[in-house]
Amino acid sequence: MIKRNPCMANIRAGYLFPEIARRRREFAAAHPGAKIISLGVGNTTEPILPHIDGGLVKGARDLGAAETYSGYSDDGLPELREKISAVFYRGQFGLDEVFISDGAKCDIGRLQLLFGAGTPAAVQDPSYPVYVDGSVLAGAAGGWEGSGYRGISYLPCTAENNYFPDLSKLPANCLFYFCSPNNPTGAVADHEQLAALVQAAIQKGVIVIFDAAYAEYIRDPGLPKSIYEIAGAKQCAIEVNSFSKPAGFTGVRLGWSVVPKELKYAGGESVNADWNRICGTIFNGASNIAQAGGLAALDSEGLKEIRELTDFYLGNAKLIRTALRGLGIVCTGGDNSPYIWAQFPGRDSWEVFAEILEKCQVLTTPGSGFGPAGESFVRFSAFGHRADVEEACGRLGRLK
Ligand code: PLP
Repeated sequence: MIKRNPCMANIRAGYLFPEIARRRREFAAAHPGAKIISLGVGNTTEPILPHIDGGLVKGARDLGAAETYSGYSDDGLPELREKISAVFYRGQFGLDEVFISDGAKCDIGRLQLLFGAGTPAAVQDPSYPVYVDGSVLAGAAGGWEGSGYRGISYLPCTAENNYFPDLSKLPANCLFYFCSPNNPTGAVADHEQLAALVQAAIQKGVIVIFDAAYAEYIRDPGLPKSIYEIAGAKQCAIEVNSFSKPAGFTGVRLGWSVVPKELKYAGGESVNADWNRICGTIFNGASNIAQAGGLAALDSEGLKEIRELTDFYLGNAKLIRTALRGLGIVCTGGDNSPYIWAQFPGRDSWEVFAEILEKCQVLTTPGSGFGPAGESFVRFSAFGHRADVEEACGRLGRLK
């Protein structure tokens, strides 16, 4: 018999969201008829808006006619790569530096192949679970601090440091996963913080995987939407991004990664050339239908729709934040991100999760599921129908 991949034994049991789903089923079975409202997961709920939807329809129709049929698009349709560079990066990247993908999560998984098993990783603590679990699967021995595993460093991001890590603790020669606007804390790094991050990465030989999946939620014009707004970032950072949260493409699947030509390994080899090779070898490109939708999303009408959709979710976020603050609960986020990070000092996150589910029939995400520094927090997600969010906010009053 063939042996199991030993990395599988290193991964924590029960990925966070399946565990929440299990507890939801358990609660629903014990309380038949209860209307549970989810403010837990980051899945989008609102329909794709008409102009962008029209792009998807056109993409499908084009496949049905000889004149417009298309097959593999390899690293992505050139016109989409060009448009992404123009819209998000002021045209500073060539087509061969923008790689279209089936989503940011998939790219985060595949990017690990560039560096191989045993590459040390560092994460903001708390962080989006894929950075840790993906690193463990790729062979960085991992797990919670104190679990006896080595290979993954957790850099606490707490109220005390304004949710920005102490960069003096960043290990040398590691991959550092950095997410801004942050999932789960909702914090957005400013220019000075990102400049300090870039400087530290260059000094320490670190490559930053910058996850900008929520950049379109930034409303404060002074905050950076991309790490490439910082001089020097091309030498030390890969950026992953996605149409999922700005355009409602969670079920369509479309994202991109930018791998600048300036980015080199310790031996001077090109990271960009290797990424091109990996994409051509184990990934045959994103769906042409999804890419037609992506092209429409980046037209001026599409960009207006992105604004409209993200405004809607930010409206939900404001309702949630106001309801929580009205109860005297300290929370951050929700102004430039769709997540609200609520603090319950001295309490266990899963216990708070259970109390909110029990008293309000509202589903949240326990902060400890995102890392040890998430203990005593729960995350509220602004992805939901307005009527449900309003009802959930009313029910939160039962926590008084
Ligand atoms: N990055 C972050 C920080 C996320 O929160 C998510 C989804 O919740 C993703 C990436 C996944 O994006 P995609 O749908 O493009 O795979």
